[in-house]
Order: sequence, then C-alpha cells, then structure tokens
Amino acid sequence: MVQNSDIVYSATQHIDRLMRRVVLLMFGAGVLSVLAIWRLEAIDGRIDPIDRVGYPGMVLVFSASFLALWRFPKVLVYVRWIGFMSITLVLLVDLWQQMRVHAPLIGDYDSLTLWNWLPLCYAMAFFVLAPRHAFMAAAAILVFFACCAVMRGSAGTPWAAQDRALMINTLIAHAVLVVCLTGMVWLKHVVTVQGEQATRLKLLAATDPLTGLANRRLTLQLLDQLARDAPLELAPVVMLCDLDHFKHVNDGWGHAMGDQVLVAVASALRASTRDADTVARWGGEEFLIVLPSTRGLEITELAERLRVRVESLQVADRHQCPVPVTLSIGIARLAARETGSSWLKRADEALYRAKNDGRNCCRIAEPPES
Ligand code: GH3
Ligand code: MG
Ligand code: MG
Repeated sequence: MVQNSDIVYSATQHIDRLMRRVVLLMFGAGVLSVLAIWRLEAIDGRIDPIDRVGYPGMVLVFSASFLALWRFPKVLVYVRWIGFMSITLVLLVDLWQQMRVHAPLIGDYDSLTLWNWLPLCYAMAFFVLAPRHAFMAAAAILVFFACCAVMRGSAGTPWAAQDRALMINTLIAHAVLVVCLTGMVWLKHVVTVQGEQATRLKLLAATDPLTGLANRRLTLQLLDQLARDAPLELAPVVMLCDLDHFKHVNDGWGHAMGDQVLVAVASALRASTRDADTVARWGGEEFLIVLPSTRGLEITELAERLRVRVESLQVADRHQCPVPVTLSIGIARLAARETGSSWLKRADEALYRAKNDGRNCCRIAEPPES
C-alpha cells in the first residue's frame, strides 16, 4: 500500500536527482560558454580582454565548484562560503568602480554585466544560508544595488523615461528571481524535512527499541507477502526461537540482565544469518527468523548452528558469574497454498515439541494436512 510518507520520501529523492542533473547541465553549459566566447572572438575579435579571461575563468570556477559540491557535499561547505563572499566582493568592487567613474548604473554595457552577475550572488546565498536568511541576504543585496542605481540616476538628467522603465523592469525581474529562488529552496527544505521525518517514523514503527530488530508488525506483513508471492522452489522457511527458562534469568539476575541477554541473543542471531534473512523480535523472549530462500541450504544444520551459537554466548553478571542462555527452535517450510498464519502456527507447534523434548533443541514442523 502506498502511503503519504512514501510519496514525500520519493519526492525528496526525485528533487535530489533533479538537482544533480541541473548541476551536470550547468557544468556542460559552462564548458560550452567558454567555447562560444573563444569562437566569437575568432569571428569579430571585439571581445573585451577582461571578458576574454574573466568570463571563461568564472564559468569554469563555478562549474567546477558546482561539480565538486555535488561530489563532496560535506567538505565543500567552506568552499561555498568562499564562493559567496568572493562573488559578492567582486560585484561590490565593480559597483564602486562604476560609481566612481560616474557611469549610469543602468542601460549601458558595463552595468548590464553587473546586473547579469547579481543572480549568481543570490544563488550562492541560497547555497550557504538557510532559506529564510538567504532570502534576507539576497533581498538586502538587491535593495543595496537598487538604491545605488536610483541615486546614480540615468544618462539623461533628470531620469529619462526609457531609462526609468529599464530600471523598473530590471528591478522587477530581479525581485521575481529572488522570490522564485526562495520558493524553490523552501519547498526543497520542507520536502527534505518531511522525508526525513517520514523515514524516521517508518523506522520507529518497524523496529524493536531494545534490540533494534524488526518488530512483529513488520514481520507479519513480510510473512503474508511471502506466503502469497514467494515461489515454492525457493523453499522459504521460518524459525520461531524461544529462550529457555528465561523467567529464571529475570528472577535470578534481574530484569536489566535479562535485557542484556536479549540484546546479546539478538546480535548473535543477526550475525549468524544472511542479509536477505529477517531476524525479528516476535515477543518478550521470542525471536522469529524469516529466510525467504533456503535453496541449497541444509536447514537443520543452520538451525543447529544458531542454537550452538546462543548456547555458547558469554553473558556474565558483575561478579563474572556466567548467565546460562539456551534456545529452542521450531522450524517450518512454507507449503503450497498456505497462509502466513498457518505457516507460523506450524512453526509454533514445532517449537512446542522442542520445549517438550527437553528444550535447547530444534524441531521441524510436519507439512500441513491437505
Ligand atoms: P520456557 O520458554 O523455557 O518455557 O520458559 P520461560 O521462562 O522462558 O517462559 P515464559 O515464556 O513464560 O517467560 C518469558 C519471560 O520473559 C517472562 C517475562 O518476564 C520475560 N520477558 C518478556 N519480555 C521481556 C523483556 O523485554 N525483558 C526482560 N528482561 N524480560 C522479558
Ligand atoms: Mg516465551
Ligand atoms: Mg521462554
């Protein structure tokens, strides 16, 4: 069944994938821009010397840092900060130079360069700051540049009508860009947080807090699914394991030591099974092992190995007095057209026989009567 949390989680992964593609595209675009600038220069030779070095240099630096950011997201937090500070500084120096030579800050070639590079500054703000702070930083930078431009005036005095229109259009475009960037980043932030919460909740709902194993709820679903879909040639098997005389452990050594034994048994079982197998805490001192495929495995040998491993666990109290731990195991192989609960019931009957036969042993269930 698809749940809300699944949708949110897959949306997060989708956005991450999308971002990686955008980063790759930017790198490709950067390389193409450099080639285009060289080509243009070859055609009419009128490229400004600063642009000839500056554009390809900046494109390459930023493409490379985007690529590096993608590959090493943790280490590059400082590189991102340096990138943000340096682009802001470069733009401020450019602004100051233009103010100094009394050039208008709108409508000519130099000021166009300034306004074209500002979006990179906003984007970098969103890479280094949380969405709310990045919005405030980008808005402050934009307001500062806008104030300088308005104060500087246009080529005509007072403001020529077309310069004013150009200025208003430029400012609106930049404001829309900052708002859109904020919206996108905020959405990504919300989806990521929700995705993380959903994953954490899913994990909590599916695991046993003491041992960290899968819990009964999750394992019941797995059993039903296997009983319904698993091919019988794979010979799926369940093993129901119950610690022997566990009440004596609790009575003799206390509940805390009992818990310690449960944790030790859980990790011994987990360590003795394959990744594809599920070890679950079925109840108080009962564990259920689900083996989706036992083709080529001698199942009684495997169960015997588990039993011996638990028997040889070295759990000792604070006086170094060993706590005896043994396990009885009931084994059932899935039969044709069997339900999950009938499969489990047969494992339980086999476990009952193991207990009756003196405990610390394994018994295999009979096939169901058809
Ligand atoms: P046997 O199965 O061999 O017949 O004997 P037993 O003593 O293990 O019998 P039973 O299944 O009746 O007892 C289980 C005990 O496990 C009772 C309960 O106090 C203890 N138990 C259940 N959950 C926990 C737990 O989380 N921690 C601890 N320390 N003990 C638990
Ligand atoms: Mg029990
Ligand atoms: Mg028991």
